[in-house]
Amino acid sequence: MKKIKFLILAIIALIAFNSYSQETSNFYATMSLQDARELKKDLPNEVEILAEKRNEAAVYLTPLAGHKLHDRVLVHGPGYIFKSSLEEAIAALDKPKRTPQNRLAFSITEDALVNQTLGLINTQNIEDQILELEAYGTRYHNRPSATQAANDLKAKWEAMANTYGRTDVSVRLYNHVNTQMPSVIMTIEGAETPDEFVIVGGHLDSTSNQGNNDAPGADDDASGIATITEATRALFEVGFVPKKTIEVMAYAAEEIGLVGSAEIAQNYNNNNVNVVAVVQFDMTNYNGSANDVSFITDYTNATLNGFLMQLLDHYNASGPHQITYGTSLCNYGCSDHASWTGEGYMASFPFEANFGQHNSNIHSPNDTYSLTGTSTHATKFAKLCAEFLIETAKSDGALAVDETLIDTVFVTVNDSNLEYDLKASNESFTNIEIYDVLGKKVLDSPISTTKGSLSLHSLKSGVYVATFVTEAKSVISKKILLK
Ligand SMILES: [Zn+2]
Repeated sequence: MKKIKFLILAIIALIAFNSYSQETSNFYATMSLQDARELKKDLPNEVEILAEKRNEAAVYLTPLAGHKLHDRVLVHGPGYIFKSSLEEAIAALDKPKRTPQNRLAFSITEDALVNQTLGLINTQNIEDQILELEAYGTRYHNRPSATQAANDLKAKWEAMANTYGRTDVSVRLYNHVNTQMPSVIMTIEGAETPDEFVIVGGHLDSTSNQGNNDAPGADDDASGIATITEATRALFEVGFVPKKTIEVMAYAAEEIGLVGSAEIAQNYNNNNVNVVAVVQFDMTNYNGSANDVSFITDYTNATLNGFLMQLLDHYNASGPHQITYGTSLCNYGCSDHASWTGEGYMASFPFEANFGQHNSNIHSPNDTYSLTGTSTHATKFAKLCAEFLIETAKSDGALAVDETLIDTVFVTVNDSNLEYDLKASNESFTNIEIYDVLGKKVLDSPISTTKGSLSLHSLKSGVYVATFVTEAKSVISKKILLK
């Protein structure tokens, strides 16, 4: 028993040593076969190709090779997936690629709640948090400041949940085998089906090609962490209680081969955790392309990508919350979504720009907030994040659309007057809000009787949503057509 214990400890120590010193020691990884061959051509003594399968290779890299790869990968991210041993690297190639199961029935039904939330996303909060994270100087995974950043983020998320009185929220550190830096996970427990998980994430660590002591990582990826934090804060402000469990993840050690997310995704899969969808936010604040959002189409799930595009079509086609989008390619292991995809989960990666047009200062001491611009670009991603969370986790709260009341509210439109009858509901209502198809509130009127009418003469003809708000802050929405 003791011997076995010692052996396990020795193995863990060896693995730990291997990864903590990735700056100075050789290590195993998987990567795209093409990248491996090109790297081998440039640095014949720094790369060993151990095995090839389909378009992937298991490799043994020197720190120099890892670094070179980092600098030249197509978009960003390490370009390889770290493996703690030769066996693990080879096994990863042999692992049958699972077809992701579509575990989610996608629908867009939460207009009132989403529209309310979009108006609450605060650009200043995103800027503040990017600057906060940049101020660590470096968040390279093996620096004490990286672990400090994780501890501080845990405290920040806990304080945020407390501010909004959320007893259904908990925050934990997730400790890893292959890095000393912990990931941070915030859990909002699902009110109806807590065993179904919806996940959004970004990576908390940073890196720099000039040694790793000056690695501000403002865009890569303080912007992503600030994006998911602000989206979640807005959900708290609107009182959103999800039916499914939501987890917000700040991954450790993405830059050394997706180490944090790989361990988490593998652990979730080993424990049969039912993750219905995952969205990664890595680099959200550099506006480099004509489109606001570029959906990465490789190593992601087409169905989920399509749903995110539908959300933008539905909620952000024009107006104050307008968000345009296109598609682009990334690269092997270009961010943490690849860890989830690799475990057979549905994952997407909306990125700040098209292939090659992203922030060129990343992985350098120049990845600072002041060189990126304002947070207006990241704000768009926070809106998408909130839409995704509300529409996939769906609402179950007091502030949410009350489906039991939906058939007790009657509306008709006559001569541009909205006539309503709320008597059957036995609720007391405070006001009627009218939203246009873009989600913009165009009328807001107090209600004093359960049967009455509201003039819509000021509105152009078209489709609108009439939302009735109860004293208990439930909302009931009805689509109306104004001729
Ligand atoms: Zn990144």
